[in-house]
Amino acid sequence: MTAISIDGPSGAGKSTIAKRLAEELGFSYLDTGAMYRGMTYLAIEKGIDLDDEEAVCRMTQSAMLRYEGQDLYVDDLPAEPHIRSEAVTRSVSLISSYGCVREKMVAMQRMLADEGNIVLDGRDIGTTVLPKADFKFYLTASPEVRARRRYLENKEKSDLSYEQVLEDILRRDKYDSNRAISPLRVPEDAHQIDSSELNIEQVVQIMRDRIRGK
Ligand code: C5P
Repeated sequence: MTAISIDGPSGAGKSTIAKRLAEELGFSYLDTGAMYRGMTYLAIEKGIDLDDEEAVCRMTQSAMLRYEGQDLYVDDLPAEPHIRSEAVTRSVSLISSYGCVREKMVAMQRMLADEGNIVLDGRDIGTTVLPKADFKFYLTASPEVRARRRYLENKEKSDLSYEQVLEDILRRDKYDSNRAISPLRVPEDAHQIDSSELNIEQVVQIMRDRIRGK
């Protein structure tokens, strides 16, 4: 069984690249950010005060997360596309900083990784979730490049300006890197790739070569 971790900050292209790599290798793919987004969406739907860690923990304990194929459900609500909303994006770093939320998500991610060959993307996969992953990558790009990509990707669906997207990316970088539990870090044994000057295909190629030992 083979596990591949791809960590890195928001907007580095992790999910597109992880999905593509998984498809090529015939592996399953797990978007761990979607799980944290799912818990954030559920808390908002239930009208829970997001600053109230205890209330969020109680909700998390009873929450049901499940996959039907690639489709994520939270308490029987389809997660997509709601988990990509601006409200969820704004609050997901806070919810994912709570220890009780991380504990439950990490346990579920390890269980899913035990089921077969898999590519996971996130912030703490190589450091915490699967420290023994077979191949570890850390994907990054400059904040400006990441914001530009996010802005162009969401232009049709969102009113946010490039400056607002950049601000959100910088805020989440800071929050995710400074939280007490499992902050965003480069795993010691990860292969780092800066995608600022690379397209998706070039990044996938670098990963493929590395996996095949070229
Ligand atoms: O990857 P994505 O941008 O969808 O992740 C949303 C948020 O979920 C991140 O900003 C981070 O706060 C949190 N996250 C995390 N650990 C992971 C994946 C995501 O804390 N493994």
